[in-house]
Amino acid sequence: MIHARADLAQVRRLVVKIGSSLLADAASGIRQDVVDHLADELAALIEAGKQVVVVTSGSVALGRVRMGWVDRELTVHEKQAAAAIGQPKLMRAYGQAFARHGMSVAQMLLTKDDLRHRRRYLNASNTSETLFSAGVVPIVNENDTVVVSEIKFGDNDSLGALVSLVVDADLVVMLTDVSGLFDRNPTEHADARRIGIIQHLNEAHFAMAGDAGSAFGTGGMGSKLSAARVATRGGVAAAIISGKEPGALTRLLAGEDEGSLFLCGVDRQSKRQHWITEVLHAAGEIHVDAGAARALLEQGSSLLPVGVTAVEGVFDKGDCVEIIGPNGVIAKGLCNYTAEEMRRIMGHASSDIESILGFHDFSSVMHRDNLVLISDAS
Ligand code: GLU
Repeated sequence: MIHARADLAQVRRLVVKIGSSLLADAASGIRQDVVDHLADELAALIEAGKQVVVVTSGSVALGRVRMGWVDRELTVHEKQAAAAIGQPKLMRAYGQAFARHGMSVAQMLLTKDDLRHRRRYLNASNTSETLFSAGVVPIVNENDTVVVSEIKFGDNDSLGALVSLVVDADLVVMLTDVSGLFDRNPTEHADARRIGIIQHLNEAHFAMAGDAGSAFGTGGMGSKLSAARVATRGGVAAAIISGKEPGALTRLLAGEDEGSLFLCGVDRQSKRQHWITEVLHAAGEIHVDAGAARALLEQGSSLLPVGVTAVEGVFDKGDCVEIIGPNGVIAKGLCNYTAEEMRRIMGHASSDIESILGFHDFSSVMHRDNLVLISDAS
């Protein structure tokens, strides 16, 4: 784990997120020279033994330019169409740039939904492992054509953070058009100071970030900080550096004072807990009585059917649900039974499960290992 800049030299696997504002030009489309320079730097890191995943934006921006849809808001479907038009251009640019180093690239298009399903999550993880062993560079983007705003990652900063968990990276680096997090807006204040190391990301940092975004990208500094929080809670360090200064990434990895580095929290959640709190959406609610709430909160127990008082929603075995105590939400986790089965066994002793359902898979309805107390998640 990364606890100081000096540890960055040991990074073996990293995710590099590249924003649209670096890659796309409103007049000419892709900035091939920028892609070439980035690929040169990444290829040198790969040749030095590091494994790199690129998470790139730019498909919508390139599609907009190609269609001349530049000076207006696009509808959701126009954005999706623009992504479909721009994505092959983006891949061609990376393909050409890495081919100059004898390296092949692979396209991975992901949606948030893909990572919410355990099987798809594992497939994405296995695919990236196979690409690494084949020496091919995975180039990831959101599969914009199949998702609408409420089920999107929303910005590639959060996609980058989640990909860093999927591939079990040591570090996620966000390349952007500013050289890190500043204590105030550096374009307005000449004396703005860069924050070099962030040990514990907190609200004061979010206040510094404001909400400034650039013309082309969707994510401003705020979305980069949210992404850094997701990554660091999962045990992956994060960095924000300039993508405009040649060599910044290489200097960062050499431990130099480059950009802003977010260290992993000491209280980091286990990967599984992190996946439950950050990625999965609750499909329903299980209400419990005061005794069950106390057992979960104070004794580290699993949830038993006897303490359940009501079940809401439609969910399957293994789906994520919220547990609601007398005073509100207390936990989130994976339920061992379907909503329908839960309604039949609630209020009963575990020893009655078999006679009620005709089978007995688990004594608990939610095992402790599959459950995260919400206070742990904050
Ligand atoms: N997936 C979008 C694209 O490639 C970008 C999202 C973002 O700007 O972060 O155009």
